[in-house]
Amino acid sequence: MTPDPRDVGPVPVGDWDRAVGLISSADEIALACHISPDGDALGSMLALGMALRAAGRRVTASFGERRFRVPRLLRFLPGQELLSEPDAYPAAPELMITFDAPTVERLGVLAGNAARARELVVLDHHPSNTGFGTLNLVDPGAAATVALAEELIHRLGLPVDKAIATCLYAGLVTDTGSFRHSSTTPEAHLMAARLVATGLNPEEIARELWDRSPFGYLRVLGAVLDRVVLEPEVGGGLVWTSVTRADRAAYGLPYDELEGIIDVIRRTEEADMAVVLKEDDDGAWQVSTRSKGAVDVARVCAALGGGGHTKAAGFTSHLPVEQTMASLRALL
Ligand code: 5GP
Ligand code: MN
Repeated sequence: MTPDPRDVGPVPVGDWDRAVGLISSADEIALACHISPDGDALGSMLALGMALRAAGRRVTASFGERRFRVPRLLRFLPGQELLSEPDAYPAAPELMITFDAPTVERLGVLAGNAARARELVVLDHHPSNTGFGTLNLVDPGAAATVALAEELIHRLGLPVDKAIATCLYAGLVTDTGSFRHSSTTPEAHLMAARLVATGLNPEEIARELWDRSPFGYLRVLGAVLDRVVLEPEVGGGLVWTSVTRADRAAYGLPYDELEGIIDVIRRTEEADMAVVLKEDDDGAWQVSTRSKGAVDVARVCAALGGGGHTKAAGFTSHLPVEQTMASLRALL
């Protein structure tokens, strides 16, 4: 028998077949991505959701946040009408599929629904994925979860139109940092070529994701840069700053406008590691970390209750900024 040319990744072809079987026989398919969704999480979920809906399937899609809100940056993604609040989610889904979540905790208030699901299919590319599904389609070599979503759509025999491709492309460019990060493989570029060929508009997607902010963003960025700290002696060099609720309130800037700040901070040549602490609307600190390779930030963030990738990870802290930074330094 000729081997399937696609059967080269760590996901065995038998597992793909099982996923296709489960999806084909389910009456309703419940989709969930991780909380504080990024382009990869929401993009992979909406892409599969739209493909299934176009095939006439019953689909629910959500993420487990009580204050259910799609980040402003991602509201341009097609398929938003598939989304519903977690309260409306099936309590014990017949089939649930998760996207870009390495642990069940990252499903937020939908973690219980996942625990009660008859079948739980986990689609992810985090090396730290705990395999919490009844079927785990996890490929740490994939540039993004959207690569697994594209493969699944393909194996279901469903077409990828321009709207679906837009969601997949948004995830791909988000997670590869516009083809700059180490996840930028030949496969990532080949996938981009397939998606762009559907007629999507890369210029428009890039503008929506990175090139538009309210004027207040510049003022907040100014305040944040004003208090940035460089500690060259910590680890391979540490650069960090914080964004308070007061910073944002002064300019009416919503929390979800802060995502790009880490990309400004992390360019610092003298530092291997960059950290931005962002105070959310509940007063908790969402901590973004990046490394150029000397520090494994996934390990550091996991030790602080979070997780992520070797070079991009995060965690939540309920301690004051200085205390959070002290516990972080102690791990370097
Ligand atoms: P960002 O800094 O862009 O919010 O997150 C970077 C990466 O860190 C994400 O892709 C995600 O994998 C991970 N991450 C961020 N925050 C958390 C968190 O609170 N818990 C876990 N497990 N991972 C996180
Ligand atoms: Mn991802």
